[in-house]
Parts: sequence; structure tokens; C-alpha cells
Amino acid sequence: MERVEALVDVAAIGANVRTLRGRLAPGAAFAGVVKADGYGHGALTAARAAQAAGADWLAVVSAREARTLRDAGIAGPLLVMGALTPDELDLALGAAADVVAWTPEFLEAAARPRPDAPPARVHVKLDTGMGRLGTRDPDLATALVRRAVADDRVHAVGLMTHFATADEEGDRFMDEQLARYRAWAEPLKAVHPGLVRHVANSAATLRDPATHLDLVRCGIAIYGMDPANRDPERHGLVPALALRSVVAAVKPCARGESAGYGRRFVAERDTVLATVPIGYGDGWRRGLTNQAEVLIGGRRFAQVGTVSMDNVTVDLGPDGGGVTVGDPVTLLGADGGERILAETVAAALGTINYEVTCGLLPRATRRTV
Ligand code: PLP
Repeated sequence: MERVEALVDVAAIGANVRTLRGRLAPGAAFAGVVKADGYGHGALTAARAAQAAGADWLAVVSAREARTLRDAGIAGPLLVMGALTPDELDLALGAAADVVAWTPEFLEAAARPRPDAPPARVHVKLDTGMGRLGTRDPDLATALVRRAVADDRVHAVGLMTHFATADEEGDRFMDEQLARYRAWAEPLKAVHPGLVRHVANSAATLRDPATHLDLVRCGIAIYGMDPANRDPERHGLVPALALRSVVAAVKPCARGESAGYGRRFVAERDTVLATVPIGYGDGWRRGLTNQAEVLIGGRRFAQVGTVSMDNVTVDLGPDGGGVTVGDPVTLLGADGGERILAETVAAALGTINYEVTCGLLPRATRRTV
């Protein structure tokens, strides 16, 4: 093995996609969201696993992400959900990806014929409360849909919005957003029945079948993480990523001696330390200084001292825990009966699981298992 490996369990992604698809309302299709390099798991790996498990669509955010998938031979409906510069619009359409429009100027730019691309496939986005992409004005959104439907140079494909609070316990705002969306989309659906209505992210998909409509867009859940940053098991999801390193050194540390930059760990008793060659240069964040645990030989040990760019230190206790150089170290994932979730690491950092896996850097070698 290498010093740091992010092991991506393709079967787990497949199982999660099947679990989610099995819960869809009748008639709803499934999009696997593989933006940000598949939430750190590898976009291609995630795309292939999702498609093999029955994902009808894929979704990314940037034109470059779409191009990369196409260049690797990924076929099928592919939606670029992000805002695009004119150059990126060309790139996305050249990759035969669908794009999202919410201004007349963008729609016109998308409609411009391109020698190297089929007519643009466009989804119109209404901002029902997220306050990010999309128009706040339902009349403008309706006008854009009608214009797209009437214009031979484009295909009007979808009607979308995005929820702000689907992952929050006791939330009512999602229902308000859904009501605003329905008031806009239902009349259009009646006029143009082929339009694909899509609103649900993972949290909404798991929470309420009324949000499934014609298509759901699931990201975090296909990787086996809980959209509410609690426990994926409660949804029957299996974490797809394990982060492993290896014990590089084992050494005694006498009471009063320290380890790491800034001496943020000072031994309160004679103990044994292990050096593990992973750090923030791999995406194991410095905020985990004195905050994380690791698994070695199926046992839990505290990571102590400052996380540096390339190493962390683990307190093995006075007897050294039977740990020797070369032993595998699990920072995320299971070892024996123990497991460490991205949700737990995220809580220690004051962030969410999304950021933990997206934050893994290229130096952490991805391997599929
Ligand atoms: N749809 C849109 C527009 C998004 O931006 C995202 C991701 O943030 C998703 C769907 C997928 O969200 P999640 O990973 O929570 O399922």
C-alpha cells in the first residue's frame, strides 16, 4: 500500500443507488450527482458505479467536469447544474450536456447554433428560496420556458429548483419552496407534458416522496453519507470511502515530552507514540489537531498534537498497544468492529461530511475496491 490511500468501494455506491431508487415514487427517474470529483470519491468511478446501478442521469456543476466524463466515454443524459461563462457554455454544449438557464441572454446564447454540437438542451431554473442560481420571478421563468419550447434551435428539457433546508430537522421551508415550484411548474407541465420536473436533493429524496416528481438529483447519499450529518445507517446507506495510512514509526515518549509543532501535545505519563504519514497536504485537516481518533488493529487510539502537512501522531498508550511499523491505520471507515464516519470527523471540525470527503487532496491516492 501507499502512505495514504482513499479506498473507494464501488459496490457500496451501487448499493446506495439501488437503495435510493427503490424508494422513489412511481415514475421518478434518478440522477447521480458526481460533481467535485464525485464528492472526493472520483467522478468517473462514481459515474460508472451509479450508471451500472441504474442511474438514468448524471449531474455535475462545471462544463469541465462534463467534458471529462464524456472524454472517458460516459454516455447518457448529463446535466451541468452550475452557472456558466460564455466559454463554458460552449464547452458544456460541445460535451452534449444539458445546461440550466434563468435569463433571456443565456437562453439566446445557448440557442446560437454551434457547428460541433447538437441543439442545446435547456432546463429552466426558478429560485424558490435558495437565493442562489435561478430567477426569483416565476413570470420570467415561464416566459423562458415558452420561448425555449417555441425555438427550434433549443430543446426545452426540464423545470428545476433547489431546496435550502431539506436536511434540517423540523423544517417547514422545504414545503413552501415545493408549493412555489408547483404553482409555477404544474401549468407548464400541462402545456408541455414532456418537461422533466426536478427539485429533490438527497435529503428531500429521503424525506418526502412528494418531492420526487419526474427526477431526483442525489449526491451525498450515493456515497453513503447522511445529508443531515448524523448516521448513514439510519437510511440504510453504506459509506463508500475509507481513508487509510500506515504506521511509519513507533517510539517512546516520556512524561513531559511533547510531539508536533507548537508542542500542542505534552505527555502526562510515559507513553508510546506512532507517527502516521498523513496530513493536511492530503486533506486531513489541521483543525483535527487533538480532535480525531484512528483505528489500528481494530482498536481506537487518540490522534494527538498538531496535524502537520505530512504527518500526525497517535498516542498508543504506555504498553504501545501491540502496534508495530507497517500496521494499517484507518482514519475513515471500519476496522474490526469499530468504524469512523465522515460525519464524526466533520462534527469535530465544525463542518459537514460533504466537506470532509470533497476536501481530500490529490496526494491521497484513490483506489477502487
Ligand atoms: N442539486 C443541486 C442543484 C445541487 O447543487 C446539489 C448539490 O449541492 C444536489 C442536487 C445534490 O445534493 P446532495 O448532495 O445533498 O444530494
